[in-house]
Amino acid sequence: MSKVLVIGCGGVAGVAISKCCQVSEVFTELCIASRTKSKCDALAAKLAPITKTKITTAQVDADDVQQLCDLIQSYKPDLVMNIALPYQDLTIMDACLACGVNYMDTANYEPENTDDPEWRAIYEKRCKEAGFSAYFDYSWQWAYKKKFEEAGLTALLGCGFDPGVTQAYCAYAKKHEFDTIDTIDILDCNGGDHGYAFATNFNPEINLREVSAPGSYWENGHWVEIPAMSIKRAYTFDQVGQKDMYLLHHEEIESLGKNLPEVKRIRFFMTFGQSYLDHMRCLEDVGMLSTTPIHYNGQEIVPIQFLKALLPDPASLGPRTKGKTNIGCIFTGKKDGKEKTYYIYNVCDHQECYREVGSQAISYTTGVPAMCGALMMLTGKWTKPGVYTVEEFDPDPFLDALDKYGLPRSENHDPALVD
Ligand code: NDP
Repeated sequence: MSKVLVIGCGGVAGVAISKCCQVSEVFTELCIASRTKSKCDALAAKLAPITKTKITTAQVDADDVQQLCDLIQSYKPDLVMNIALPYQDLTIMDACLACGVNYMDTANYEPENTDDPEWRAIYEKRCKEAGFSAYFDYSWQWAYKKKFEEAGLTALLGCGFDPGVTQAYCAYAKKHEFDTIDTIDILDCNGGDHGYAFATNFNPEINLREVSAPGSYWENGHWVEIPAMSIKRAYTFDQVGQKDMYLLHHEEIESLGKNLPEVKRIRFFMTFGQSYLDHMRCLEDVGMLSTTPIHYNGQEIVPIQFLKALLPDPASLGPRTKGKTNIGCIFTGKKDGKEKTYYIYNVCDHQECYREVGSQAISYTTGVPAMCGALMMLTGKWTKPGVYTVEEFDPDPFLDALDKYGLPRSENHDPALVD
């Protein structure tokens, strides 16, 4: 019996909300609140005939703490699920603290305006000290740890697939498969084809920023940064086949490096087709990925936001996308004094997702873990005061829930390793 406020109503939120409505015995009441209320109303109307969950909707600008507080105080939820954009993480955390409610999200904070001088000064200091230059990092949200502890509230960060399930896989490997883990390779393969020459599978602004940034990995207690897309490997994925993949910076490496200090190397690879990379490079070269506003015909335009308006809406890719995703972690390490390797992953079919909830697998593989994370918090399995990432909680009930609600795990005790 619980009341949940979901903020955001895009591709990922649509899946998370649909899945919450399949578990009405826990998610008894849900309020969908977003910038564009008509999207919330449309989703509520679609779900109302097929769920016992009582759904209401609201309009909110989640950049505005006061508006958030007004909404939280009138709805009185047990949990706020932030499935808007990473730009809103801090305002929503502030509102949760002010109103005394638990918080979760699917991606760590990054600023919308990377030219803001105050943010930039802190960012440049962090680049020098920490050694990686991605715009996003955990420091902003980890800074809330004491406040959440003192308020007796839980904040769960990054509970999608990657970040999210990948960290639960790491916690599971540490708990059940290894005494010590030496290396972790996180492999994110999308073998889906949507038929467009170029489109992004989730919010284009967030996706293109992530992919065009320098790559980096964690080795022997420090970051190693490399030019974007400069480390390429081929890997043969179960049920997908051979794909080229590239080393990227990814946010869970940062928390895993902190929470599993024994691990000597942590890398993240994502598959990309040549057409995606060629388009991205070209768009970057002509300045279309820039977040710095330009003046055009008497109007201020942010190039990447204009690009977003031209690209297909990720939520519209569902009916067109065929193929499967395969995301998981390969570990090397020791058990009972012997060297061993282990691979745990999930394979998800784009068209099956579309049949079930009307979305492609990228939103599905993010939205289902968000629902399962909320389920852990609402049923008291993942509650401790403070700010935590997924690997800091017991992975067993979470992975059981993922098995049950659409993202079952597969295992391989003799996987091919990535060189
Ligand atoms: P979308 O762009 O599809 O949806 C974002 C939603 O947030 C929209 O409904 C949008 O409203 C709403 N929103 C944006 N700004 C505000 C605001 N100021 N106030 C209220 N609502 C706002 O994004 P996705 O669904 O693709 O992604 C959602 C989140 O999931 C992102 O944080 C993304 O980084 C994360 N993600 C995480 C992954 C993981 O594995 N961990 C993988 C993929 C995504 P409007 O309709 O008006 O635009």
